[in-house]
Amino acid sequence: SRGSGHMTTAESTIVALRAQVRRFLAEELAAGSFRPSCDCWVRGHSPDFSRKLGDRGWLGMTWPRAYGGGARSARERFTVLEELLAAGAPVAAHWIADRQTGPLLLRVGTERQKRTLLPGLARGRLFVAAGMSEPDSGSDLASVRTRAVRTATGWRVSGRKVWTSHAHKSHYLLTLVRTAPPGGDRHAGLSQMLIELDSPGVHVRPIEVMTGEAHFTEVTLDDVDVPADMVVGAVGDGWRGVMSELAHERSGPERYLSTFPLFAELVSGPTAPGATALADIGSAAARLWALRALSLRVQDLLERRSPTDTAAALVKDLGTRLEGEIVDIARRACRPGPAGGGPLPTLLREAQLAAPSFTLRGGTNEILRGVVARGLGA
Ligand SMILES: Cc1cc2nc3c(=O)[nH]c(=O)nc-3n(C[C@H](O)[C@H](O)[C@H](O)COP(=O)(O)OP(=O)(O)OC[C@H]3O[C@@H](n4cnc5c(N)ncnc54)[C@H](O)[C@@H]3O)c2cc1C
Repeated sequence: SRGSGHMTTAESTIVALRAQVRRFLAEELAAGSFRPSCDCWVRGHSPDFSRKLGDRGWLGMTWPRAYGGGARSARERFTVLEELLAAGAPVAAHWIADRQTGPLLLRVGTERQKRTLLPGLARGRLFVAAGMSEPDSGSDLASVRTRAVRTATGWRVSGRKVWTSHAHKSHYLLTLVRTAPPGGDRHAGLSQMLIELDSPGVHVRPIEVMTGEAHFTEVTLDDVDVPADMVVGAVGDGWRGVMSELAHERSGPERYLSTFPLFAELVSGPTAPGATALADIGSAAARLWALRALSLRVQDLLERRSPTDTAAALVKDLGTRLEGEIVDIARRACRPGPAGGGPLPTLLREAQLAAPSFTLRGGTNEILRGVVARGLGA
């Protein structure tokens, strides 16, 4: 149906929602509730801010109402995400839960898990960390050695996870563990389970990064008892669960907007870029726009549950490289150092220190190119 002017109803909804989010962000900025930062979806941890988003219905937006969601479209969710990221708002506390854990529970969770967990995730009251990587298992995730053995009431888990973002500030760890020996198929015998992070035997050690912050951690699981009903999906089917999360994990606007606050400041801040920088900025803007189109397309496919692994891997490979290039453009434009005041020096410093992680987290770019090559029939 057609709305006002030449807009469809769906388009008018997006325009109104975008205005609403921008208003909220302007008010929050004016109230001093956050300072725009680069890499805000990893380093901007604010349970308070996440609660405000939850109260406005901006978390779990696409989930069914029966589980506390908003039953809204993927495009509406995308609109909220890109506005939050472009503003550099502190969204890290709920990011994994909203992006991955909720969709996973909706796909393979039990009715009880959905009813008890999803409303808390959608209200920004419950936070989840992703416990996949281990000291010797990153790219080759199927080699995880954390083990779960059966007990009378569930499972006893032992092992070590690393690079676990925000485990020291989350309620649950969604953990990939080995529940049976691999046998001939190394993807068999893996399971996912939700572990309460205050359970006896869980030890979380924050790991300091170059900025001096500690957003990720090492988690040691020392004979941790996990009730049987905390297994997510069928026992032994964990690999499929992890794989089903990947397209969600790799395709969103956070894969090309981590340095957008820096880019925006470079374009519209007080430091006037020279002619070379302007050409670089134009090229980056054009590529940002193309990546946005690709990312949107992937969200549509995900909504229809169509296969999107190749396109999702492309978003992340191209997007994370562009995020890094934006740092280089800003650095060249600001040589010998940003003039004047304003937030540019701080944004540049934090973007530069975060940049090495862009092409690592969520699967390295070398691995992603393998995914793309295979998807194209190589
Ligand atoms: C900021 C940040 C946050 C993170 N948060 C989390 C989190 O919350 N939860 C979690 O579970 N993990 C997290 N990680 C871990 C991340 O998923 C891993 O770092 C990533 O999967 C790579 O694994 P690795 O570090 O073991 O590197 P490795 O797998 O050891 O790779 C090292 C190098 O070898 C290359 N390589 C490896 N295998 C191949 C191959 N087959 N072909 C070609 N090249 C190859 C890689 O591309 C890379 O350059 C995070 C990482 C970062 C940087």
